[in-house]
Amino acid sequence: MIIDSHAHIDFTGYDDDRDEVIARARSAGVDLIVAVGNGDIIEGSHERAQQIAESYPFIYTTVGLHPHDAKLYNEQIEAYLLKLCKHRKVIAWGECGLDYYYMHSPQETQRRAFIRQLELAKELRLPVIIHTRDAEADTIDILHTYWAATGLRGIMHCFTGSYELAKAAIDIGMLISFSGIITFKKSAELRSVAAKLPLDTLLVETDCPFLSPEPHRGRRNEPVRVIDVAQVLAKVLSVDLLELAAATTANFSKLFPKAVQQPELNYGTTKQL
Ligand SMILES: [Zn+2]
Ligand SMILES: [Zn+2]
Repeated sequence: MIIDSHAHIDFTGYDDDRDEVIARARSAGVDLIVAVGNGDIIEGSHERAQQIAESYPFIYTTVGLHPHDAKLYNEQIEAYLLKLCKHRKVIAWGECGLDYYYMHSPQETQRRAFIRQLELAKELRLPVIIHTRDAEADTIDILHTYWAATGLRGIMHCFTGSYELAKAAIDIGMLISFSGIITFKKSAELRSVAAKLPLDTLLVETDCPFLSPEPHRGRRNEPVRVIDVAQVLAKVLSVDLLELAAATTANFSKLFPKAVQQPELNYGTTKQL
């Protein structure tokens, strides 16, 4: 089995064939999917992700405000997120973090929303899923100040950072999750960072519908393609695909033991992966 640790399958681009997309992933050996509520908070992305998680025992979900939307953060949004958090399939807080590349919200606003969400995740004892782009120094600084001492862990999702960022995150117990970006021709530097990371710190994800891995680049992404990501990551680390799948599943299981031990799931019957 293999796990897609970050998928936006609530997006409307799947409205016509979501069940088939999910079935395709399952029959290829993708046995667990984390449906990250992200999109448009006002448009009900989280509720849709929760409905999907209710329909499938192997789909879990998260609650958080993306850094792009940090400017929307206020008491009302916070109360709304906290209410959503009570859903039984919520396993993590996120994605939250900093994105100074797109800068859809001012830096200081992003920092405030990020810190506040770390405080909430700490109170709720939830691992955190972090989105960070072009904001390494502030990310490390905030994680050290507001997260390291909590004893909680989390995921650096869709990792594109430096070895220093990966190392700093791993040192405080975070897992590093690679997406289709690692398969892109231009990502030689990222592959060389990945090659230096221990197998017991890694996860794989699609971040679908974005970032389709090679050879599907440019088309709508979907959870089954986490296998293409895993194949490239396995090659980078000089391990075989099954070993990488087993290691990333074990890493995920340690972080989210309840999700993987669901009685509805029968991991004894490993499929082709
Ligand atoms: Zn993200
Ligand atoms: Zn995402």
